[in-house]
Amino acid sequence: MRGKRSKQYRKLMEQFSMTFGFREPYQVLVDAEMVKDANKCTMDLAARLQSTVHGKVKPLITQCEIRKLYADKDQPGGNAAIELAKTFERRRCGHHPDEYPKPLETIECLRSVVDPKSTGENKHRYVVASQNLDVRRMLRGIRGVPLIYIKRSVMILEPMADESVQIREREERRKFRAELKKTVGKRKREEKDEGADNGDHSESDDEDGDRRKATQAPTTEKKPKKHRGAKGANPLSVKKKKPQQTPKKETDKKPETAASDTKAKRKRRKKTKSENATAPGASEPAAAAPSNAGGES
Ligand SMILES: [Zn+2]
Repeated sequence: MRGKRSKQYRKLMEQFSMTFGFREPYQVLVDAEMVKDANKCTMDLAARLQSTVHGKVKPLITQCEIRKLYADKDQPGGNAAIELAKTFERRRCGHHPDEYPKPLETIECLRSVVDPKSTGENKHRYVVASQNLDVRRMLRGIRGVPLIYIKRSVMILEPMADESVQIREREERRKFRAELKKTVGKRKREEKDEGADNGDHSESDDEDGDRRKATQAPTTEKKPKKHRGAKGANPLSVKKKKPQQTPKKETDKKPETAASDTKAKRKRRKKTKSENATAPGASEPAAAAPSNAGGES
């Protein structure tokens, strides 16, 4: 279990390095609660961070967070927490006591440090170790932030947040395409396009099939593919034939179904008769004819 998780974390940090440019030593921002909790379960915080991210780390603590530790100095374990925090590099967050008599909430302080310009990017490539769920939730919304917390004396590296995963996948697809273009020519690209357009198989296959027929008639290996293309073409051609066939049938029927024509002629004759009948009485034969026809049918 432990080995499995370790493997997972190594892979995860590799992905962060590949996609977001993380490098050793990893800068890990720790919050006041993280320092306290690590001390509570007698955890060597720096060493455990190092083994979790599988690389050298540089733990950092913001001015606001260390002020919180000083504020809790008199509580049990308060001094030990301060001593531990002193071993970490201080990250100037700019929330000076003159301006902020009370230290900022962890969520506010870390947001300003991780994403100073609110662009949704982890500008300085910080790893964040925070015991506050709301803080971690906020940081999941910023792209490429590895998140660490302690649960029951176990240090956990969160799986990549959805948005970061999407960026990673996009990046991988882009690299994959770039490599394909390098290694193989147009043919591979065409095949890839076919694979991508799974939904519209019939049309794209037909077009490709036609092209192959025109260009690559002599090759024997690709003949089955052509046949598949031809099969794909059939449904379309059938669709096209349907409208074509019906007019053909009509043309065929024309000589055969002379009776229907004569019927039509008879109707016309009737109309003319009715016209003739009404002609002497009514002055509008054209209007009378359609009304009679409607009545007959
Ligand atoms: Zn601050």
